[in-house]
Amino acid sequence: MTRSGDAADVIVIGAGLAGLVCAHDLTRRGLQCAVFESSDGVGGRVRTDVIDGFRLDRGFQILFTNYPQVTDRLDLDALEVGTFEPGALVRVGDVMHRVADPIRQPRQLWSTLRAPVGTIGDRIRLLRLVADVRTRSAVTLLQRPDMSTRERLTAAGFTPTMIERLWRPLFAGIQLDPDLEVSRRRFDVILRMLASGDAGVPRLGMGAIPQQLAAQLPADTIRLRAPVRSVDGTTVELADGERLSARAVVVATDGPTAHRLLGAMVADPGSRAVACCWFSTAQAPWAEAVIALDGTSNGPARNLAILSHVSPSYAPPGISLLAAAVPGPDALDPALTSRVREQLAGWFGSTTHDWVHLRTDVIPHGQPDQRPPLHPRQRVNVGGGVFVCGDHRDTASIQGAMYSGERTAAAVAAHLART
Ligand SMILES: Cc1cc2nc3c(=O)[nH]c(=O)nc-3n(C[C@H](O)[C@H](O)[C@H](O)COP(=O)(O)OP(=O)(O)OC[C@H]3O[C@@H](n4cnc5c(N)ncnc54)[C@H](O)[C@@H]3O)c2cc1C
Repeated sequence: MTRSGDAADVIVIGAGLAGLVCAHDLTRRGLQCAVFESSDGVGGRVRTDVIDGFRLDRGFQILFTNYPQVTDRLDLDALEVGTFEPGALVRVGDVMHRVADPIRQPRQLWSTLRAPVGTIGDRIRLLRLVADVRTRSAVTLLQRPDMSTRERLTAAGFTPTMIERLWRPLFAGIQLDPDLEVSRRRFDVILRMLASGDAGVPRLGMGAIPQQLAAQLPADTIRLRAPVRSVDGTTVELADGERLSARAVVVATDGPTAHRLLGAMVADPGSRAVACCWFSTAQAPWAEAVIALDGTSNGPARNLAILSHVSPSYAPPGISLLAAAVPGPDALDPALTSRVREQLAGWFGSTTHDWVHLRTDVIPHGQPDQRPPLHPRQRVNVGGGVFVCGDHRDTASIQGAMYSGERTAAAVAAHLART
């Protein structure tokens, strides 16, 4: 039997950031939405589990606080975002070197100059690069000639040492891109964010972000544990056989699922995998809220962070919570956890024997694969009252997912006004 989507104007499939923003904007325009979410909670790839007093995000993630969608839509004060300190620790040989942020920590530049992470020329090139991206709008950066991130850095004159020891591990973590293959357009936009704002995590975990968005929707808008099996025009069929129809349908799933549901109307964007090994320890291996990078690029973990240094509520008092992020194909290795343990024992010695492994998250589709040419602002109206949104339509990020939700809501509203 086909029912109307609980008398909704629009059925939204998926309660990730894109679907939540889309439903919010449609609701604000006076349209009734019904959101169907396959899992047991909202947030999609941005969720947090509380386990034995630890807050474990589903994979190590960071919120850039000056993403335009973040500043416009989120109550950052309510999220109580704990922020990373600028700069990084970079592991080269047997030593952790402190590398300062030349923009925000000019006084520490001297210690940076002694770190074997590049030449003085590289520092000057870094300042030039940052000045370049800061003085241009994100829209302009996303339209410049495209190439891979590695080609972009090489063209900017960085030495191979600087690329391998700093850029590669840093953007391996952010773009899930251990080989710097992703589009320079994304790289430029992210660098702009890094250079002009803070990066951090909410007090209650990254999952607090979609929770805040979901709380703005009318009660009963979201139906959890309601996987959609198929989409046929503006009628959807749930896994239990229930069929519902509405005036428009928005597929707000990840890209590969949108492709499965809509076939040739939406290309599969490809996937970048990522994993995260979570450990607890009474003896934190370093004391500051900075990220640590694998300057050897041997991995498998490329980025480490002690989340409890950034936001103490991530761990019970007196205990530290460490995330070891593994982007790329290594994420899918069944022997990953023991390889990460071995790598970190090499870094921090026998103290790691007491570390407790809490969980390993393996996420085969961490982000869509956005190699060049990257064309954000992909089509969201695929015809016949069916729309699509998600990070695969814009940039693979919290900002991109939310922005695509906004764009799609505007397109749906215009379509419904016409019909
Ligand atoms: C480990 C990791 C680290 C990341 N790090 C960062 C970072 O530091 N900064 C940053 O900006 N971005 C980061 N990202 C990217 C960012 O999290 C994503 O781009 C964004 O969350 C995507 O949101 P979305 O709404 O497009 O998709 P999703 O979050 O995938 O939401 C899709 C929703 O659809 C649901 N769904 C799927 N199929 C169905 C179905 N058949 N029926 C009903 N519901 C369905 C899913 O359960 C999900 O809730 C990271 C991602 C990962 C995984």
